[in-house]
Amino acid sequence: MRRFFAENMDLNGDAVCLYGDEARHIGLVLRMKPGDEVLLIDGSGAECTAVIESITEDSVRLAVRERRMSSAEPEVSVTLFQCLPKQGKMEVIIQKCVELGVMKIVPTVSARCVVKMEGKDNKIARWNKVSQEAAKQCGRAAVPQVAFPTALEKIDFSGFDTVLIAYENESEVTLRSVLTDGRKVSNMAVVIGPEGGFEPKEVGSVAARGGIPVSLGRRILRTETAGMAVLAQIMYELEQ
Ligand code: SAH
Repeated sequence: MRRFFAENMDLNGDAVCLYGDEARHIGLVLRMKPGDEVLLIDGSGAECTAVIESITEDSVRLAVRERRMSSAEPEVSVTLFQCLPKQGKMEVIIQKCVELGVMKIVPTVSARCVVKMEGKDNKIARWNKVSQEAAKQCGRAAVPQVAFPTALEKIDFSGFDTVLIAYENESEVTLRSVLTDGRKVSNMAVVIGPEGGFEPKEVGSVAARGGIPVSLGRRILRTETAGMAVLAQIMYELEQ
């Protein structure tokens, strides 16, 4: 069944109207007809089946049927604190990490970041659009939020039950050893460094806030590979 975003809409009522891109896509591009069934996604993790009632040039009215939680959402919530990478890489990171089940992405500023974010609010809007498109393509019912950039030293990790910082110089503790040590994980934070890596004192400061420095294995991964690798391993270990 085709999926459409009805973000910020109340899907608890009997009917809903789509406008803008989604409406044009249904009517003009796909040429769907009244009576056709679709899936509506409100961005929160729920989805509804709905039947098209009527279509105009710029709106589609649908009757809402069955509401259910999406089976595509992971049970573990992972927030990725991705230190700002160089030009263009953030879009790839967002797209792939959304596919792999991330719940939120926080662009993070650390000592060795070379990119500056001042005055780049349009970037955040663009990144959220990338997240939305990735969520739609891979069948997710939640659209992971891309937050405003935050300085690494200011992040409050207190709401997470497990905080991991992938550290290229960690030689003893592996990601796998933490994921398989029997802990109950439901709300996790993962911190990934920029191209130049972390300064030791940054890792110490995250550890002082409860973070566990982990190794991702014997090879140094690029910053854009590291988050994907961590997410794939988390889902492998923790998803049923
Ligand atoms: N320039 C650094 C590497 C940075 S890699 C150096 O040469 O040492 C970018 C980020 O990816 C790192 O800060 C870390 O968060 C993550 N990363 C890459 N490979 C890793 C590994 N083997 N173990 C842990 N973290 C890794």
